[in-house]
Amino acid sequence: MKYDYLVVGAGLYGAVFAHEAKKAGKSVLVIDKRPNIAGNVYTEEIEGINVHKYGAHIFHTNNKKVWEYVTQFAEFNRFTNSPVANYKGELFSLPFNMYTFNKMWGVVTPEEAAAKIEEQRKEITGEPKNLEEQAISLVGRDIYEKLIKGYTEKQWGRDCKELPSFIIKRLPVRLTFDNNYFNALYQGIPVGGYTGMVANMLKGIEVRLNTDYLANKAELDALAEKVVYTGPIDAYFGFSLGTLEYRSVRFENELLDKPNFQGNAAVNYTDRETPWTRIIEHKWFEFGKDKNGNDLPKTVISREYSSEWKPGDEPYYPVNDEKNGALYAEYRKLAEAEKNIIFGGRLGEYKYYDMDAVIAAALDKCEEEIK
Ligand SMILES: Cc1cc2nc3c(=O)[nH]c(=O)nc-3n(C[C@H](O)[C@H](O)[C@H](O)COP(=O)(O)OP(=O)(O)OC[C@H]3O[C@@H](n4cnc5c(N)ncnc54)[C@H](O)[C@@H]3O)c2cc1C
Repeated sequence: MKYDYLVVGAGLYGAVFAHEAKKAGKSVLVIDKRPNIAGNVYTEEIEGINVHKYGAHIFHTNNKKVWEYVTQFAEFNRFTNSPVANYKGELFSLPFNMYTFNKMWGVVTPEEAAAKIEEQRKEITGEPKNLEEQAISLVGRDIYEKLIKGYTEKQWGRDCKELPSFIIKRLPVRLTFDNNYFNALYQGIPVGGYTGMVANMLKGIEVRLNTDYLANKAELDALAEKVVYTGPIDAYFGFSLGTLEYRSVRFENELLDKPNFQGNAAVNYTDRETPWTRIIEHKWFEFGKDKNGNDLPKTVISREYSSEWKPGDEPYYPVNDEKNGALYAEYRKLAEAEKNIIFGGRLGEYKYYDMDAVIAAALDKCEEEIK
């Protein structure tokens, strides 16, 4: 028997597509080259803690349809992202808000904070020439020096004076005590981790792991009428036009024999000297409790390092510059000429998608495709 669809990739795009196709009565086979489902939102349980293996993932959306969709597959907790900045041992609340300004300058009222920022912004007269000048012109020198400079330099591996000003267009400043990072209507973490949520999406669907589509293409193509491919678009075409670039992150995970390392899920290290950009303490995504509501005695932390990406590394963030945009456009033309294949998701479309956006994109594609 031939399947209606072969879905390559068991990440969010592939799982949503497969779920909808099955619901519409289609036969579906899902494959993934990794040993696990869930793609980059994969969580693995270590000592009762759901560890976000490919980087911390916080679900947030203003899209009610997507929220109603995901909550069919998991219960979400009330986690709110409120990161902390550590600058040489001084702690600041993020994003920039009244707690931050009080700590920075001792100001108490919003008027005092606004006046302080205004006074410091004046340092830059004329068009900002680089990222440093741009940041100072938006929020002043103190915030720039303590909370932006080192973090940005580590992320880009370059001095802020050598980075173009357009990288930072806006730096939101809140003259309130609101430290909820995402201004989203709906936010949370699936109770029990993302892997369980994706497993529910894939319930009743045949999944083959450790199966690389490109290494077995002819054989796998023969199994289905149509392919949904969520792997890298350039790899599909054998990198024939060149390699699309990514920005990479390296994670160093550590299991600690203590209940509380930093008291928050995310702490950004905003000085230049500390080599990591931030530390994630995974248990705080679920309030430090195990699935039965008991306090967890240990903790798992991940130090994140910004690193140069080279071919063969895990692709994380697409680089949205002119060169890569033009190369993607060429691959897109090749993709459009292919028959019986849909390219989707962050790698298939070479696009940074938040989770809600990738789910919305997959649902749109299903509406168009599955009759
Ligand atoms: C570090 C980081 C942090 C993030 N944090 C957030 C966040 O806090 N909130 C948020 O909303 N979004 C976040 N995102 C975005 C989120 O990860 C994506 O929206 C989501 O993972 C995209 O799903 P996808 O299915 O398109 O891709 P993926 O999850 O990458 O799935 C693609 C799958 O295809 C498989 N595959 C590739 N090639 C082949 C092949 N040849 N054969 C078989 N299988 C193949 C891969 O193994 C993978 O499992 C973050 C992204 C990163 C990189």
